[in-house]
Amino acid sequence: MSPATEGVRALQPYQPGKPVEELQRELGLDDVIKLASNENPLGAGAKAIAAGRDALAEAERYPDGNGFALKQGLAEQLHVPVECLTLGNGSNDVLELLARAFVTPQHEVVFSAHAFAVYPIVTQAVGARAVITPAQDWGHDLPAMAAAINENTRLVFVANPNNPTGTWVSSKALQTFLQQVPAHVIVVVDEAYFEYVDEPSYPDTVPWVARYPNLVVTRTFSKIHGLAALRIGYGVSHPQVADLLNRVRQPFNVNSVALAAARAALDDREHVQRSRSTNRAGMDQLAAAFSRLGLGFIPSVGNFVSVDVGRPCMEVYDGLLRQGVIVRPVANYGMSHYLRVTVGTEAENQRFIEALETTLSAASSP
Ligand code: PMP
Repeated sequence: MSPATEGVRALQPYQPGKPVEELQRELGLDDVIKLASNENPLGAGAKAIAAGRDALAEAERYPDGNGFALKQGLAEQLHVPVECLTLGNGSNDVLELLARAFVTPQHEVVFSAHAFAVYPIVTQAVGARAVITPAQDWGHDLPAMAAAINENTRLVFVANPNNPTGTWVSSKALQTFLQQVPAHVIVVVDEAYFEYVDEPSYPDTVPWVARYPNLVVTRTFSKIHGLAALRIGYGVSHPQVADLLNRVRQPFNVNSVALAAARAALDDREHVQRSRSTNRAGMDQLAAAFSRLGLGFIPSVGNFVSVDVGRPCMEVYDGLLRQGVIVRPVANYGMSHYLRVTVGTEAENQRFIEALETTLSAASSP
């Protein structure tokens, strides 16, 4: 008999985007582009890279386990006390800490259909029951999520915007929801793509933490700051929640290169602005191409968009791979006819569009 717990035995591991080197090895291609993991096509900013490089010179030392300098910077920028902050090895780490600190096999965790794949993983890893509410127009149905809460619920995940759908919940809808959630339930609002969103009804929930002691907001340096490889993200919560998370985290869960690069990235407003405008232009470019090709897509406020390719997505995914273009099939999210594409540079988007056209026309010819 397997010694693993029941939840772990039933777990489907997270399926990451295919690495560029893997496709190069498999197909002998040199020129490969990856639009599969919602990474920043501009890379990290020069200031962050320089700071990370400097930190590497002291690789023999353990990092500052409390992340003092970065927390100070975040506290100033977000206008929250340092005690509200939890740093993680990616924001995924914070999501996992939340499950470990608050959830046992007797408990339930609520999230939406088509929501980010890490929620079921952290839920099942602690042996808890996942309660998955149906989506509405691909987005979260917050009233249904509120109705799914009972005395066994400990955690609710709200991805805003959600990956892979790119859908978002409005400030008004989220406030109404938070007012309905009982105090024994932690609401995690996952804002991994916060900095990309340019939508008037979209909330900045960090100031709400002062009003809702059961609210945890998570953000990351992996996306707009272009530091995905370094693994660094954070949570903002009531200090008591942060204190509990601090008890279960590894002593040095965030490395010193990541801490230094993230601290520098925080001040690099210019890089953030450039990344935002590149994304906006690229999203328009992709949307125009999808419309021209007669393909439906889910309007997205993130740095990615899911497009309906009108047939099982693996066929189109494979066709794109053969042309050196890696995107993400999202059949595992219950979206069997969709591919999720990360917004790239103008040239990358163009290459993807041309490869998509080639694949679709090859598939539709007799
Ligand atoms: N939340 C969402 C919605 C995401 O899409 C991602 C990245 N795929 C994360 C959290 C985690 O990102 P990271 O661990 O790199 O901060």
